[in-house]
Amino acid sequence: MANGIRNKREHSFFGDVVNYFERAAKYTIHPAGLLDQIKGCNSIYRMNFPVRLNKGIEVFTAFRVEHSHHKLPVKGGIRYSTAVNQDEVMALAALMTYKCAVVDVPFGGAKGGVCIDPRKYSEIELEKITRRYTSELVKKNFIGPGTDVPAPDYGTGAREMAWIADTYAAFNPGQIDAIGCVTGKPVSHGGIRGRTAATGRGIFYGIREAVNKKDDMKKLGLEPGLQNKRVIVQGLGNVGYYTAKFLQEAGADIIALAEYEGAIYDKNGLDVDEVFKHRKKSGSILNFKKAKNIMPSGKALEMACDILIPAALENQINSGNAKRIKAKIIGEAANGPVTPEAERVLLKKGVLIIPDLYLNAGGVTVSYFEWLKNLSHVRFGRMGKRYDQLVNSTLVDSIETAVGKSLSKKNKEIILHGADEEHLVNSGLEETMVNAYNEIRETWKGNKKIPDLRTATFVVSINKIANSYIASGIFP
Ligand code: NAD
Repeated sequence: MANGIRNKREHSFFGDVVNYFERAAKYTIHPAGLLDQIKGCNSIYRMNFPVRLNKGIEVFTAFRVEHSHHKLPVKGGIRYSTAVNQDEVMALAALMTYKCAVVDVPFGGAKGGVCIDPRKYSEIELEKITRRYTSELVKKNFIGPGTDVPAPDYGTGAREMAWIADTYAAFNPGQIDAIGCVTGKPVSHGGIRGRTAATGRGIFYGIREAVNKKDDMKKLGLEPGLQNKRVIVQGLGNVGYYTAKFLQEAGADIIALAEYEGAIYDKNGLDVDEVFKHRKKSGSILNFKKAKNIMPSGKALEMACDILIPAALENQINSGNAKRIKAKIIGEAANGPVTPEAERVLLKKGVLIIPDLYLNAGGVTVSYFEWLKNLSHVRFGRMGKRYDQLVNSTLVDSIETAVGKSLSKKNKEIILHGADEEHLVNSGLEETMVNAYNEIRETWKGNKKIPDLRTATFVVSINKIANSYIASGIFP
């Protein structure tokens, strides 16, 4: 159970991803050789490196896996966790390939990980470790704006990305695109507005799209729309926090939040920002106002709700707890939170599982925007904003003259403001998530043999990657 102790995975995580791939490949017409080329990991780099810390020299084990080079650069986050191992990084790299294809982001998939508990090291020590890991990547050409572009993942954030960018630039003096070697950077250091919240925002758009489908909701016995949907979120980190926040703002009730130390429950809904502040101040999610403490934390996953969102780590819903899950919709915000064994049980119960390779693709989508911004060396909106404002003000004047009265102050402001970087990023993200959901759902509904949404998502992804190989002439 998800009680803060990592579960032993029921199978190999990479094996699970391969099984999902093979299940979906049956609904495509591609030859075995092409499918084999897509399926395997192209390059696997395992490294050990020493770092001199306060207590003396410590040797760290780390990985970078590049799953598919059908498009370059490859892209994928860097994870800091004691559970990092080769199998996990391979699985996460493969998911990145399929994820990028689903949302039409022109990258291959990759992933990195350092086997470390970041909470046990000081900031200076973490900086040393991150810089040393980066130099190992540089040595073997496993990082660069045109080759391999990391991003944040579990246990890392904008701070680590800034250290990576700085280290890479030091090894590549004068390289004009060096800042594009990593995404998820602070805005003041080549990042893009909206990236921090992007994965959670994308998850919100994806869930909103799913619950707006009347027919699908009818089957689940739910009303369409997010209003008053009872939601439980596991993990109040980057992904979980923003997902919960945006869902709450759209009218959903966040009835439970689960963290390492335990979970809290309030049937009337928790204020996500207040809980976040409470945890920061007290060091724990527990004992929040009138909310009920739930121990151990994993119990929260089994409580009655409409939408369950595991946003922590893989393997949280497994053969041990699947039967007791009462949610009607599971939104896979984390990568691999539901095991194949659990999935079988849940699908039999009629649960709608919105799969990770679609649902958490908002992060890589906005990372793509950041990379484009870095290569173009200009902030989105900078060139056109003033011109748009001028055109829009002429438009407002014409409307007011034509209708003979003034527009309201609020409407005028909306029209006149013009799009800045954050508006453009969020609108590109929304468009991407909405279109991709409709594409995978239509594939699912369009072929009665495709059993579920995850398989349909893999079918869409495999077809796009295969077509890219075919177009390149490598596979006739
Ligand atoms: P994070 O480190 O910011 O947050 C994870 C949170 O989960 C932490 O607060 C941690 O305490 C909590 N947690 C860990 N184990 C738990 C457990 N057993 N029960 C309850 N809470 C637990 O990480 P993140 O960036 O939010 O990533 C979370 C998941 O989302 C990972 O699977 C990651 O691969 C995936 N993901 C992240 C991004 C991104 O942009 N950061 C993008 C796509 C997918």
